[in-house]
Amino acid sequence: MLLSIVVPCYNEESAIPLFYAETSRVLEDYAKKGEDLEGEFIFVDDGSIDATAAVLKDLAVRDRRIHYLVFSRNFGKEAALLAGLRESRGEAVLILDADLQHPPSLIPLLIPAVRSGEFDCAGTKRTRKGDAPFRTFCSRLFYRLMAKLTDIQMVDGAGDFRLMSRRYVEALLSLNERGRFSKGFYPWIGFKTIWFEYENVERAAGKTKWSFWKLFQYSLDGMIAFSSKPLAIASVLGILLFFISIGIIIWIILYRLLTLNSPNPWTPDGWASTACIVLFCSGIQLFTTGILGQYLAKTYTEVKQRPHYVIQEKG
Ligand code: UDP
Ligand code: MG
Repeated sequence: MLLSIVVPCYNEESAIPLFYAETSRVLEDYAKKGEDLEGEFIFVDDGSIDATAAVLKDLAVRDRRIHYLVFSRNFGKEAALLAGLRESRGEAVLILDADLQHPPSLIPLLIPAVRSGEFDCAGTKRTRKGDAPFRTFCSRLFYRLMAKLTDIQMVDGAGDFRLMSRRYVEALLSLNERGRFSKGFYPWIGFKTIWFEYENVERAAGKTKWSFWKLFQYSLDGMIAFSSKPLAIASVLGILLFFISIGIIIWIILYRLLTLNSPNPWTPDGWASTACIVLFCSGIQLFTTGILGQYLAKTYTEVKQRPHYVIQEKG
């Protein structure tokens, strides 16, 4: 069986040699047990500014199983994954991070589940050990929100580290949208998935490319890509405000009729309540226009049909 290993790399010059040594060792040990397994590596250099491309070329000279793509600039991990998956030829495809945070030692555990044909995906979940409590809290909140807003069930802690059958990969590739949110794609395409859990590990070398803000943006993208419910907020708020205003109008009319002959206490200081109402309503209007804008922006990106990435070099 040919196993394609897709590895997105962004500034991973120090991690790649460690990654390659470790993964090759695991594959060799597995093959030594008499298992029929051939591996190919597809490294995607996502526009690194360090020597990642040079390291990859050097490895490719020494090992025929290594293929690489070099992007013309940084297009993001999702684009790198897409390019790697498109390039893969194996009957089974594995996605691995270059930083060894996805332990290659799990590979022999994943293979039988997919090879037997019983499952189309052997997925892994990481524990949140070692994560900052605030980050864990935000992730949990996000998963809960996604479950409420969308029809898909995302698995907490499940990432891109997964072994997939060929037809699973083809299904993934058939999702051609530009705003790519793989975490949502996996449950969306379906198929039977078996889960393995592993302890969270520290990066082998280099540092993470995710800032809190980038993660927040990514979560928003995910929500917008998989749910149109936020759009309904505008109509719900509108209807709510409409009924409230009818109540207030009735109250004002009654108040005027009942106090017709007495001095009107509203006239001198009515500006305060008016200002509150104007501010409140315009705030809600801006908020809902903002939501509309988010969807419009995504639609704009999609209709332009730009390629997901530009390849500068291939080997
Ligand atoms: N990565 C990438 N392009 C990017 C950012 C990250 O290809 O713009 C790769 C990175 O080299 C690594 C994987 O995606 O192999 C996961 O990134 P990272 O380790 O920074 O994320 P974390 O593990 O902290 O979620
Ligand atoms: Mg990592």
